[in-house]
Amino acid sequence: MDVLPIGLKLTNQKVLLIGGGAIAYRKACLIAPTGPAIYVLSPYICAELEALVKKTGGKHIKGAYPARFSRLARRKLKNYRLVIAATDSKPVNARVFKDCERMIARQARTQLESTIPARMGDLVQFSGDWRAESKAAIKDPEIRRVFWENVYAGPAGQAVLSGDRTKADALMPALLKDFREPEGEVYLVGAGPGDPELLTFKALRLMQQADVVLYDRLVSPEVMNLVRRDAERVYVGKAKADHAVPQPQINELLVKYAKEGKRVCRLKGGDPFIFGRGGEEIETLFAKGVKFQVVPGITAAAGCGAYAGIPLTHRDHAQSVRFLTGHLKDGTLDLPWGELVFERQTLVIYMGLGGLAELTQKLIDHGMRKDMPCALISKGTLPDEEVLVGTVSDIAVKVANHELPAPTLTIIGEVVSLREQLKWRN
Ligand code: SAH
Repeated sequence: MDVLPIGLKLTNQKVLLIGGGAIAYRKACLIAPTGPAIYVLSPYICAELEALVKKTGGKHIKGAYPARFSRLARRKLKNYRLVIAATDSKPVNARVFKDCERMIARQARTQLESTIPARMGDLVQFSGDWRAESKAAIKDPEIRRVFWENVYAGPAGQAVLSGDRTKADALMPALLKDFREPEGEVYLVGAGPGDPELLTFKALRLMQQADVVLYDRLVSPEVMNLVRRDAERVYVGKAKADHAVPQPQINELLVKYAKEGKRVCRLKGGDPFIFGRGGEEIETLFAKGVKFQVVPGITAAAGCGAYAGIPLTHRDHAQSVRFLTGHLKDGTLDLPWGELVFERQTLVIYMGLGGLAELTQKLIDHGMRKDMPCALISKGTLPDEEVLVGTVSDIAVKVANHELPAPTLTIIGEVVSLREQLKWRN
C-alpha cells in the first residue's frame, strides 16, 4: 500500500471546496454526513451544491481562487480544517495543493521555532569557539560527532542553554581530555521465522537502537520494517545460490562496524544458534575483543509447528524431537540415518526442497514405515504460509506437483497427523 488512509474528525469544523460544479458537488455529498460546515469558493455554484452548502451551515464565497499565493489566499485557507481542490482545471487544483502544502510548512516552522530553546544561538557560538580545540583532540569527524552529542546532552550543554557560558567553558578541557572513543557492540538477534509479532521485546529494543543492521534473506520485510528508521541496512544475502557475502566476510564486517563505535545489530532468521552460524560469528567477535550480546529467537521448527497445528512433542506420539539440517554432498545427504528412525521421535529438517526425495527414501531404506506422516511448511508464520501433508513415501511426489516457495521446513512424525485431527485452521 503506498497511500495512507487517515480519519479526520470534521464535526463542527469548516471545510473549503474550491470549485462549484459537479466535481465539487460529489465531494460535498461525501463530506456532508461527517458534520462540517461546507464552504465553496468559486465564481459560480450549481443549484444542488448551493442547497447542500446551505444545509450544512456553510456558504458560497463568490470569486475565483487567487492566481498567486497572496496573503489573502493564505488567510482564506487558514480557517479551514480541510481544503479540497475540486475544479475541472488541473493547474488550479495543482496550485491549491501547493499553497496548502506551503501553509503546512509555515506552520511546522512556527511550531519548531517555539520548541527550539531560545539559547540555541549561544550553543552554536559555544561549539564554534571550541571547534579548533575539539578538532585537535579528536581527529575522526565521526567520533567527534559523538563527542559533541555527549557535550550537548551533558552538563556543559545544559550550562550554555541556561545562560552560564563560564561554567560550560570551565567544563570543556576535562571533557576533551577524558573523552574515550565510543565502544561499539554487536547484538546477535534472532528475528524469528517471519511474523513480526513473534519478535521478542529485547530483539525489538535492540533493533531500534542499532546504528547499522546486517540482515539476510530469511529476515522478512515485515520484520525489517521495525528497524530504526535511520539505521544503515546491509543485506548479506545467504540464499542457496546467492551467497551475497561469504561468512568470513560477514564476521569481518561485524568487527569493522563495531570498531567504528557503532551499535551493530546482526539480525538472523529464527534463532541465531540454531543452524544460524551464530557460533562462528561470536567466535570472531570474541577473538577481536568486540563486546556482544545474543538474543534468542523463535526457531522455524517452533514457529512453523505452532502455526501449522503440529505439536512437536506429544504425550502419546512423540517424546523427543530432533532438529536436523541436511547438506547435499555429491548428490547424497549426509545424515546419521541410524539415529533417525524411531517411532516416538519427531524429526524437523531445516533445508530446502532439493534433498527431500533422497531424505525420505533413505529413511524408508533404514526402516521407517512408509505411512509415517510428513508435512512441508513453506513460508511458515507468514501470511502466505502453505502446508502440504503426506507420508514419507508420497511427499516428494506431492511436492513435485506444487510450487512451494522457500523457505520450507519438513516435519516427520506421528505428530503431523494431529493437524488433521485438530482440523487446524490458521
Ligand atoms: N536460524 C534459523 C534457521 C536457519 S537455516 C532458525 O532458527 O529458524 C534456514 C532454514 O530454516 C530454511 O532452509 C528452512 O528450512 C528453515 N526456515 C526458516 N524460516 C522458515 C519459515 N518461515 N518457514 C519455513 N522454513 C523456515
